[in-house]
Amino acid sequence: MSARRIAIVGAGHAGGRVAQHLMALDSACQVLLIGDEPFAPYERPALSKAVLAGEQAWGELMLAADEFWTAHPRLERITARVVGLDSERRCLSLHDGRQVEFDELVVATGGAARPLRVPGGDLPGLHVLRGIGDCEKLAATLIAGSRCW
Ligand SMILES: Cc1cc2nc3c(=O)[nH]c(=O)nc-3n(C[C@H](O)[C@H](O)[C@H](O)COP(=O)(O)OP(=O)(O)OC[C@H]3O[C@@H](n4cnc5c(N)ncnc54)[C@H](O)[C@@H]3O)c2cc1C
Repeated sequence: MSARRIAIVGAGHAGGRVAQHLMALDSACQVLLIGDEPFAPYERPALSKAVLAGEQAWGELMLAADEFWTAHPRLERITARVVGLDSERRCLSLHDGRQVEFDELVVATGGAARPLRVPGGDLPGLHVLRGIGDCEKLAATLIAGSRCW
């Protein structure tokens, strides 16, 4: 009998932890962790605190060492955006045209920052803080001791 394929959409904190627990608890499954960020799963809270203040490196936010996501034969991490779900065929469509079949599906797509849809909502200097890239961009504009407004 072939291994159950469990697809997890969203490689954030929730998706990453599900993958880790499946690896530990279910020795008979194949896990496909699909996320559209170019980073392994990480925790976000410090992005608006210690990392932004330059007191912690974002590399310390990772849920596990890089090897965990690459070396496990039953775990495959796919960097892509899921753009379609066919629940009858149990198949996901990725933004690059690939199709991923699964037996079971975990949706861990979390949240996203909503754009500020008001006049001036696209002015330069207006930032979103959701991911590592956002934090790096914002930190680069901050000057210690200066006013933010
Ligand atoms: C700056 C910041 C500070 C925070 N501070 C705190 C705090 O102090 N205390 C606290 O309790 N909480 C805090 N939070 C909230 C906490 O980080 C979230 O509750 C947590 O990130 C939720 O994890 P998640 O995995 O459910 O979702 P997310 O972290 O949103 O992860 C979902 C992932 O799925 C990916 N994804 C979404 N759609 C698709 C798709 N179609 N295809 C592929 N991938 C997809 C996203 O890109 C993302 O990587 C903070 C959040 C932020 C942004």
